[in-house]
Amino acid sequence: MNELTKRERMAMSRSEMPARPADERNSDFGEVNLGFTAGLAVLEAQRCLMCRRPVCIEGCPVGVQITEFIDLVAAGDFGEAAKVIKRDNSLPAICGRVCPQEDQCEGACVLAKKGKPIAIGALERFVADFEREHDLMHAEPTAIRTGKSVAIVGSGPAGLACATDLAKLGHDVTVFEALHELGGVLSYGIPEFRLPKEIVAAEVEQLELLGVRFVTNAVIGMMDTIDDLLDEEGFDAVFIGVGAGLPRFPNVPGENLIGVYSANEFLTRINLMKAYQVGSDTPIFDVTGKAVAVFGGGNTAMDAIRTSLRLGASTATLVYRRSREEMPARHEEVEHAEEEGVGFQMLTAPLAFLGDNDGFLTGMRLQAMQLGEPDESGRRRPVPVPGAVTTKDVDMVVIAIGNAPNPLLAKTAPDLEHTRWGTLLADATTGRTSKRGVFAGGDIVTGGATVILAMGAGRTAAASIDEFLRTDDWERSVQ
Ligand SMILES: Cc1cc2nc3c(=O)[nH]c(=O)nc-3n(C[C@H](O)[C@H](O)[C@H](O)COP(=O)(O)OP(=O)(O)OC[C@H]3O[C@@H](n4cnc5c(N)ncnc54)[C@H](O)[C@@H]3O)c2cc1C
Ligand code: SF4
Repeated sequence: MNELTKRERMAMSRSEMPARPADERNSDFGEVNLGFTAGLAVLEAQRCLMCRRPVCIEGCPVGVQITEFIDLVAAGDFGEAAKVIKRDNSLPAICGRVCPQEDQCEGACVLAKKGKPIAIGALERFVADFEREHDLMHAEPTAIRTGKSVAIVGSGPAGLACATDLAKLGHDVTVFEALHELGGVLSYGIPEFRLPKEIVAAEVEQLELLGVRFVTNAVIGMMDTIDDLLDEEGFDAVFIGVGAGLPRFPNVPGENLIGVYSANEFLTRINLMKAYQVGSDTPIFDVTGKAVAVFGGGNTAMDAIRTSLRLGASTATLVYRRSREEMPARHEEVEHAEEEGVGFQMLTAPLAFLGDNDGFLTGMRLQAMQLGEPDESGRRRPVPVPGAVTTKDVDMVVIAIGNAPNPLLAKTAPDLEHTRWGTLLADATTGRTSKRGVFAGGDIVTGGATVILAMGAGRTAAASIDEFLRTDDWERSVQ
C-alpha cells in the first residue's frame, strides 16, 4: 500500500530510463536502454496517483491492468506484478521495449498534462525482465481440452497474441511461419540494439510451454492453402496474421543499382543472417567508411540508419520528405538516432539514384520540398519547391517508405475480400473475414501499424474464434 499523500506523489520527479552513452553504443549492437533498477522502479511506481478512473488503462490496446501492477511494484512485489501484466499481455518484455507508450497508456495518463506521465513502459519492462531473470516464468498448458484446433498463419505479434489466448482456453493451436525464425518483425525487423533476440525467444518459449505448436519454413499459400488447412488438415478455424512485409519503392530511376536496398532486405540480413554479431560473414554491402542515406521517417527508417552507423558508415543521413514534426517514428528513437550521430535532411525527396558503368550506386538527385495543404492523413502534404534540385554523393541507400501486404496468400484464397490497397477485410470488433471460419488481424488488415495494435487485434480475434468454436455460429462470433 502506497503511504505517500497525493501532494507528495505529485512532487516527485519522473525516473528516466538509463541508457548507454551515445558514443559507446553507436559502434556495437548491444542494447541501448539499460532498464530500471529495482530502486528506480519502486520510486517511479510510488508516483502513481491510483486514479479512481485509470485512463491509462483505456489507452492500452490490450487492457493491461496498469494500476494493479504498479501498486504491486510500489510494494516491491515484482513477481505478482508480472502475473497481473501477463493476464492481458503475453509479450511484456517486448512491449516494454518497443511500444509507443507516449501515444497510448502514458499519453492518456493524467500526469501527461504536466509532462510527467508515469513511466508505464519502463515499469512493464522492469517487471518482465525481473520475472525472466529470476526464473519465475512458468507457463503451463490448461487442463481443459476442447478438442478444437486452430491454425495461425504468421508468428508476428498478432499471431502470437491470438495463439496465447486460444491455448489458454484449451484449444489446440498450430502456428505456421514462413521464415526459419519466429516473431515476425520482432525478429527480422527490429534490431538487436532495441530488442535483443533472446528476449523474443524467451517470450515465444512461454507459448511453447502453453502447448502451442510451431511449424517454421511453412509458407501458407505455397505449400498448403487456407482451404487445405480447413478441409484437408482438419483445422476448425484459421487466423491470418501475415503482416505487411512487401516493401514500397518511390519509383524513381536507379532503384535497381547495386547499393540500393529496401529496409526489409537490409534489416532482415542484419537480423536473421546475424550481421550484428562480431566476425559474421553475412553477405551485406560493406559500409565501413562509406556514406549512407536512408529514405523515410518511421521506426523502420530509424532502425536502418542507426544500424548503418553501427556497421561503420562514415556519414549516416536520414532523408525525409516532410518536416521533423511529421515523422511517425517514436520520439525516443529520433532522439537516440540524433545523439548517436545521425544527420537529418528534412523536406527532401529522391528524384533519381545515380550509378557508374558497372551498375554501382554513386549518388542521388534530390528534390527540396515544402509543406502544402493537409492530405487525407491530416498531415501537411509535401510539394516540390520549383527548381530546387541538388545532387549528392552516396555509397549506400536504404528505402524505408512503408510496406504493403504480400499478395501471395490472397492469390490462393480468392474468396477472401480485400481492399484496393491489398489489405484483408476483417471486422474490427471480431476479426471475422468474408470467409467462414477464417479470421484476420494485425498489419495484414490495418497496413503497417504497431506491435500492440497487432496484439490487440490478435486477442480480439481469439475471443471470437473461441465463440465460433463453442457455438459453430458464424454470425454470433462476436466478443
Ligand atoms: C523495422 C521495423 C521497426 C518497427 N518498430 C516498431 C516499434 O518500435 N514499435 C512498434 O509498436 N511497432 C514497430 N514496428 C511495427 C510492428 O513491428 C508491426 O506493426 C507488427 O509487427 C505487426 O505485427 P503482425 O503480427 O501483424 O505482422 P508481422 O510482425 O509482420 O508478422 C507476420 C509474420 O507472418 C509471416 N508470414 C507472412 N506471410 C506468410 C505466409 N504466407 N505463411 C506463413 N507465414 C507468413 C511473416 O514471415 C511474419 O513472420 C516496426 C516495424 C518494422 C518493419
Ligand atoms: S492515469 Fe497515470 S497516475 Fe492515474 S492511475 Fe494511470 S498511470 Fe497512475
